[in-house]
Amino acid sequence: MDLPGYRTCRTCRTCRGPAAAGFARCYQCDVAASQAGGALADVVVPIGYAVKGGQLADDLRRYKSERAGAAAATVRLRSMLSGFLRDHGDCVWRSAGMPDGPTAVAVVPSGQGRAGAHPLLDVVRSCVDLPVARLTAGPATAARCRGVSVGWLRVSGPAAGADVLLVDDTWVSGGSAQSAAAALKLARAVRVAVVVLGRHLDPADPRSAALLGVLRSAPPPASTCVLCAGTGLSFRARSRRG
Ligand SMILES: [Zn+2]
Ligand SMILES: [Zn+2]
Repeated sequence: MDLPGYRTCRTCRTCRGPAAAGFARCYQCDVAASQAGGALADVVVPIGYAVKGGQLADDLRRYKSERAGAAAATVRLRSMLSGFLRDHGDCVWRSAGMPDGPTAVAVVPSGQGRAGAHPLLDVVRSCVDLPVARLTAGPATAARCRGVSVGWLRVSGPAAGADVLLVDDTWVSGGSAQSAAAALKLARAVRVAVVVLGRHLDPADPRSAALLGVLRSAPPPASTCVLCAGTGLSFRARSRRG
């Protein structure tokens, strides 16, 4: 077998985090599926793993802070997202069932950001030229429970009838991203594809540590994403023609 490590390791079919033996999804994605089923994202694609203590995890914290290095972190994240969409956007659109690509873009609100500041939206808008469907956390944000819950989000802008690219910076449990996907679908979005900059991994968690071990011993080819890896297709060749 010539498959990249994360195909042979037990990873969640939805978020690519570690999953227990015999389970197709991690606990949180299983709960989300039972709570919200068809209202969830049609596909979730993490670009990378944000390993606690690592560069990507640091960038994802720093870029929306006022700390030194925020601007450099933003540049790295923008480059990562634009490169991914250029090389693997087609993988995402195909998997989400939107063959012509998204017609709108949205970002998952962090709920902790500075009032009025949307650092992730700034990153996304510099990579993607699409109408923005805005998701706004309402005043009840602090009281929202874990898991999928749409009551804390308001949608404005072009969601009805749209195929939406929904970008999140960090996926921990997926509650915020799936709540945002469900809110967009309640606002009559047709399909929602979630692209996540970093899927959080904490090496202190044994299953995450096992996944990290596999990723480090057999890293997936740099030219693939979680959708096109292992298919035997040369994505770069196809994307040049397209
Ligand atoms: Zn999962
Ligand atoms: Zn791909």
